[in-house]
Amino acid sequence: MNNEKQYTFIFAGAGAATLQILGNLLECPQLSNANILIIEQDSQKKNDRTWCFWEPKEKMEWTPYVVKEWEKIQFSSSSLSLNKSLSPLTYKMIRSEAYYKTMHERIRQHRSIDVVYDAVIGHHEEDERVTVRTTNNTYLGTYFFNSVFDWGLVQNQKRYPVLQQHFVGWFIKTELDHFDPTTATFMDFCVPQLGNTRFMYVLPLSKNEALVEYTLFSKDRLKRASYEREIRRYLNTKNIRNYTISETEEGSIPMTSYPFSKHNTKRVMHIGSAGGWTKASTGFTFTFIERKAASLVLFLKENKDLSLFEKRNRFWWYDLLFLDVLARYNNKGTMLFSRLFERTQLATIFRFLDEKSSLGEEVRIMRSFPVGLFIMQLIRRLMRAFH
Ligand SMILES: Cc1cc2nc3c(=O)[nH]c(=O)nc-3n(C[C@H](O)[C@H](O)[C@H](O)COP(=O)(O)OP(=O)(O)OC[C@H]3O[C@@H](n4cnc5c(N)ncnc54)[C@H](O)[C@@H]3O)c2cc1C
Repeated sequence: MNNEKQYTFIFAGAGAATLQILGNLLECPQLSNANILIIEQDSQKKNDRTWCFWEPKEKMEWTPYVVKEWEKIQFSSSSLSLNKSLSPLTYKMIRSEAYYKTMHERIRQHRSIDVVYDAVIGHHEEDERVTVRTTNNTYLGTYFFNSVFDWGLVQNQKRYPVLQQHFVGWFIKTELDHFDPTTATFMDFCVPQLGNTRFMYVLPLSKNEALVEYTLFSKDRLKRASYEREIRRYLNTKNIRNYTISETEEGSIPMTSYPFSKHNTKRVMHIGSAGGWTKASTGFTFTFIERKAASLVLFLKENKDLSLFEKRNRFWWYDLLFLDVLARYNNKGTMLFSRLFERTQLATIFRFLDEKSSLGEEVRIMRSFPVGLFIMQLIRRLMRAFH
């Protein structure tokens, strides 16, 4: 079946990227009445994501959705135990369902936005329009934004390293008080590394409730039972034996410097993780989506060629080199992160991860790492570029 109406913007997927862009579009007087179509394959999206991010405490945009904030960060490994204030930042948690619900309500109130529950299976670009194919229909748009991540794209190439941040988490309630609700355990490397970069991520919601997540930065996912065995073992080492599990979450976030934007064209743009908006060295995406969504809407007001939107910065190179090292020496993550947290001020680390640090700070951060390892990798990367 063909749909003859031509939308100004078609979005594939209604996750964080599409909804944040949409939030900005609806605030923009020149674009808020554009005809928009959102195609999402899952009509039952609920709490499928727990988004955490850091930002200045006084920033209010996400306040209606924030379920918990932490003022302090804990980092642990066999060589370092650090518990420090994150001030002037705080670490915040959002559960996705509340955000989806609010955005769906806003969408329902807009007569110029249509939502279709169907799977996008392809698109074809012509001079003046893009045809988007779904399982049951085809749709026409002037611009097409795609947030459907394609693992095949990154896994069928060898030029850029590809890791995943993969995890299983349990929301638990303990019989006794075990947690400090003011402190988020960002990384606890005191778990067997087994040749990879493995750590626990513990987000206490109260003294006896927490999200406990077993996380790896590595190439391949594990069987679900392996993540759960490690969570059980970790809780045991903390003397946490009597607890109930209220919810679980699992996921895999791409960690790669693959240049997704090379697939952007005049009328087609890849957004969110599918557009490379995930920070390659950490998997953090939420704040990058927030920034990109705001600048994309400013860009759209000028009606430009979409392929001109993305610009590569020096942080892309840092991430590439870091991932090169982590992919080759996957067991060295605990050492690399310990040295970073031991030798650098917390505020500087988070500015660096936010891509807002100065060159001087970046040089100091680089000197906290084993320089020889990175120089060797840089040489390998350069030699590869010339062959
Ligand atoms: C469990 C989990 C927890 C995370 N936690 C954090 C965090 O704490 N902090 C952080 O910064 N980042 C986090 N991330 C990474 C990132 O922020 C999220 O993945 C974020 O949702 C990415 O937004 P997106 O729009 O790119 O993709 P998504 O939110 O995944 O949206 C893509 C949408 O496309 C839909 N879709 C898929 N295929 C099709 C198709 N063929 N046709 C139509 N629709 C389709 C999906 O149903 C989905 O709704 C997390 C990721 C996961 C998986």
